[in-house]
Amino acid sequence: MRTKEYIRQAITNYCTQQHVGALNPHAVLFDMDGILYNSMPYHARSWYETACRHHLNCTPELFYLYEGRTGESTINELYQTTFGRNATEAEKKSIYEEKARLFSKYNDGEPMTGAAEVLARVKQYNLDSLVVTGSGQLSLIDKLEHNFSGFFKREKMVTAYDVTQGKPHPEPYLMGLQKAKAHRYEALVVENAPMGVAAGVAAGIFTIAVNTGPLEDLVLLDAGANLLFPDMMTLAEQWPVIMEVIRETQGD
Ligand code: CA
Repeated sequence: MRTKEYIRQAITNYCTQQHVGALNPHAVLFDMDGILYNSMPYHARSWYETACRHHLNCTPELFYLYEGRTGESTINELYQTTFGRNATEAEKKSIYEEKARLFSKYNDGEPMTGAAEVLARVKQYNLDSLVVTGSGQLSLIDKLEHNFSGFFKREKMVTAYDVTQGKPHPEPYLMGLQKAKAHRYEALVVENAPMGVAAGVAAGIFTIAVNTGPLEDLVLLDAGANLLFPDMMTLAEQWPVIMEVIRETQGD
């Protein structure tokens, strides 16, 4: 299928499912890890090493499936799988601190290839950019305004400090809509993880998956992704087509 037809079909399906006349975006809600930063390999490695030290059952790939959850819920999930109970507050605190320490050591803070290009496109079409992340990793959150200068404002970010429910719960993206002053059909989500995609879809937002990690495309499509691209550079290239199709479908 040609890309334009693929995009048109996806938008038509979304409008039918959501009972809305058309998409009319004025904001894009960006996930952070695996979308704006190439940080997921370091998160996965830090989680895996920490979990192994604490004899928690897991595989390296598991952390790509858990991606988007809050640290607390990831730790509870590991304890449930291994010991059949939630972690205590003390366990959660010490494990999260250990993981965060390793992440700060490993992470090189490298922006995702193509992220700046996508943001430039978004700006070119006069759409507002917001960050919606389950991360509480201040080392990256604080760098956003520096690495992507002029695109993000701290007061318009949703982080682990703002929400009670992490992804795949829709709360982070519903809060993102609030901060963007947008209805669900007035925003787009850009996500790389199955839980993140599920959160965007549960919030009723058109969700673009970018598969920057090791999981199969099908995992993201099964989570409900409306569109799927292999990397951020391709999304940047296709952005004008997405906007063109949105404009055309508004006239249907
Ligand atoms: Ca992510």
